[in-house]
Amino acid sequence: MPIATVDPATGETLKTFEPLDDAGVERRLAAAHAAFGQYRTSAFSERARLLNRAADLLEQDNATIAKTMTAEMGKPIKAARAEAAKCVKAMRWYAERAEDLLADEHPAQADVEDSGASRAIVRYRPLGVVLAVMPWNFPLWQVVRFAAPALMAGNVGLLKHASNVPQTALYLEDLFKRAGFPEGCFQTLLIGSGAVENILRDERVAAATLTGSEPAGRSVASTAGDEIKKTVLELGGSDPYLVLPSADVERAAATAVTARVQNNGQSCIAAKRFIVHADVYDAFRERFVAGMRELTVGDPASEETDVGPLSTEQGRTDLEELVDDALAKGATALCGGQRPKEQERGWYYSPTVLADVTPQMRIHKEEAFGPVATLYRVADLDEALALANDTPFGLSSNVWTRDDTDIERCVRDLQAGGVFFNGMTASHPGLPFGGVKRSGYGRELAGHGIREFCNATTVWYGPSDPG
Ligand code: NAP
Repeated sequence: MPIATVDPATGETLKTFEPLDDAGVERRLAAAHAAFGQYRTSAFSERARLLNRAADLLEQDNATIAKTMTAEMGKPIKAARAEAAKCVKAMRWYAERAEDLLADEHPAQADVEDSGASRAIVRYRPLGVVLAVMPWNFPLWQVVRFAAPALMAGNVGLLKHASNVPQTALYLEDLFKRAGFPEGCFQTLLIGSGAVENILRDERVAAATLTGSEPAGRSVASTAGDEIKKTVLELGGSDPYLVLPSADVERAAATAVTARVQNNGQSCIAAKRFIVHADVYDAFRERFVAGMRELTVGDPASEETDVGPLSTEQGRTDLEELVDDALAKGATALCGGQRPKEQERGWYYSPTVLADVTPQMRIHKEEAFGPVATLYRVADLDEALALANDTPFGLSSNVWTRDDTDIERCVRDLQAGGVFFNGMTASHPGLPFGGVKRSGYGRELAGHGIREFCNATTVWYGPSDPG
């Protein structure tokens, strides 16, 4: 894929970039390695000062960087501004809390004595240079939720961003530089995906994190496995959205629309499969389909737009093929099911709800990365849970119910990294985020996220040792 900004609303190439050559990559690897040698010993207070400065700068840049994101990948401008604001919040969250999150741990005294020590602690030390391979869908947030904890832990970052968001990628490097982070602490590598393997194999790179598709995750994890390097993988999702008999159907349907079409439907944690109890199915379907029909599809730069274009032409083709396969095998489009007639240019797709979906259809098992929902009717909670878990993915899940017994069963039985009741899944700085099954492994955010790229070092003091 060429490294370029191509406006998804028009298909026009706005700017192209030359990928880094081997010498350029080598210079950056050397700078990252050198930076880690110094930066790993910096005080938490100094790291926090720099990260807070980056947060202040990003806050000032909100309107401009939001426009860049919208131009590069088509998210509605209101959502782009909200994304930048969320990054500011997460930076400040880690700046304030990292020292506590990584404070020395003190094992129980009985265990310390049992080990023959006078004292023992666990200290969280940074791992080194971490390679971050990131997707375009939340081009700031995906990076910041890696970078903020990584930098606070004393690691340094190398960013290989998606090839269609180069200006956002360069902005991020510049942001950390302007904030005063030492040279080499956070660098962007403008490279294609084919260049990732050699960089990951380089002995100066300690670990990698990848957010993206399953094939990309498999490739990076295979190389890292071969090199025995730590990885965190945040991959795709096809989250279930269960609506049970005691649900507030009005709210469940209104939230379902947002949960499905946020970010033009291109979110890993978007609810994608709507599994509704027969008692409330008709009421939910009517409201949900009406809500999807009412959305304003159009220019993402407009304040009025709810749903913009898909970010790439290939992305729309993939989505169309999934829908066409389902329709050919007997699914019913309750709304949408095609490109909108109003938009002649750009990579738009109409908000779509598909009913009568069967396991023979690709969309039953594959991730629909765009504003397309599948709607299922179930007879009881057993059937709902079986259907919810009948997927290779396990990122998050949503359940609408007021019944405590249902709640406990869902917490026990849903195979996912999150279970959100009576609301939609979202990531929050203070709550861990990640999946199971083919949605990946490891966690981002909260204390779990900052410890992923740390060496949890056992420090043991013998009986006669001082300390
Ligand atoms: P993608 O093609 O996998 O791209 C993601 C990143 O991986 C890009 O930087 C891409 O570079 C790179 N890449 C692709 N193939 C690679 C390979 N073989 N080796 C090394 N790097 C490689 O993903 P996408 O289709 O753009 O993004 C959508 C996917 O990401 C969806 O499945 C979505 O659910 C998932 N996602 C997951 C989360 C989460 O937190 N779980 C969050 C957001 C998105 P190029 O751009 O140069 O190809």
